[in-house]
Amino acid sequence: MNQSLGRGGSRRRYPDLSRRSFLRSSAAAGVLVAGGLAFVNDARAQVVGVDDMLLETVLGPVQGKDIEKALAHEHLFVDFFGPTDPNYMNVDWADVIGASVNKANEIRSQGVNLMIEWGPMGVGRNVLLLRHVARATGVNIVCPTGIYKSLIPPQFEGMTADQIAFHFLRELTKGTDGTAIRTGFIKIATTEKGPTETDTMIHRAAAMAGREAGATIALHSPFAEVTKTVVATLEKEGFPLTRFVWGHAQPSKTDDHKAMAARGATIQFDAIGARSDPFFHGPTDDASMLNRIEALVKAGFDKQVLVSADASVYVNPSKWQYDRDNTYVYRYFEPQLVQRLGEAMARQVLRDNVIRAFRRGDKVT
Ligand SMILES: [Zn+2]
Repeated sequence: MNQSLGRGGSRRRYPDLSRRSFLRSSAAAGVLVAGGLAFVNDARAQVVGVDDMLLETVLGPVQGKDIEKALAHEHLFVDFFGPTDPNYMNVDWADVIGASVNKANEIRSQGVNLMIEWGPMGVGRNVLLLRHVARATGVNIVCPTGIYKSLIPPQFEGMTADQIAFHFLRELTKGTDGTAIRTGFIKIATTEKGPTETDTMIHRAAAMAGREAGATIALHSPFAEVTKTVVATLEKEGFPLTRFVWGHAQPSKTDDHKAMAARGATIQFDAIGARSDPFFHGPTDDASMLNRIEALVKAGFDKQVLVSADASVYVNPSKWQYDRDNTYVYRYFEPQLVQRLGEAMARQVLRDNVIRAFRRGDKVT
């Protein structure tokens, strides 16, 4: 299996992901986002609103118009053992399915029918679980490709960034883990003190696959300086920041959020409902999140801001379950957001911006 993914074979069977070919193809049919609307920059220039955008879910493509309420960053199953540990994903799946279906039914009862799952390879991604839950509950789920930090699954050992990029690209365009289920975006993470060499290789692979598919890259990175380092890696590979979501941005300053938004990025605050943030020591109270959202809206970045709880339903091992609940967004936060920004803007932040940020790759057919 690994041999067939070697550089020679890959070169023949998959598109050339080198920067040069990207620059050629992007010159032919560039895609940019302005004023929050996607423009296809060719002779038949068109403006696409969120209702016409497509999401690639684990049950297939879904149109924006069919989305009622959305959650921008949540998790069903998360595994912190790491993919080389024998305990990794070694759980009673009947329990995981039961807990996940129950929670998804709860959020469905709140009117939510879109959940962006942020768990990539390395932290327990399971597309079959997501598909089962989506089918059982009516909650559309978008699953990411990508690898968390340097948690490279054993089957990728020894691969180059190019080879890993091909794999990401296949998951975005063909299928995932032996199925025809496509992923809808790329999730990566950086070590919070700064990317390791292996982190950076994964980031490069993500950028190559992302620009080739025209897909979104979402990054776990609480701190602005480190985020800028990762962004530099993505840009060096020709990845456009209009397709970049900065996740866990709340511990950074509002000025940093605005500066990154001015470069095209979407900014996400995602610890609402938590009592504390022992990981990054960022704010968790509703007022701080509302202030951050309002600051971006007032600065004109109202189409580039997201908010979610980043809760996990079932964590392996259970002692690492953390303090969040993904029903919090619509139970407690939405009414406050409506009060602060009005109903239309609250809907835009909670629904429209999620569809826009996580729409299917512009070059995926
Ligand atoms: Zn998360």
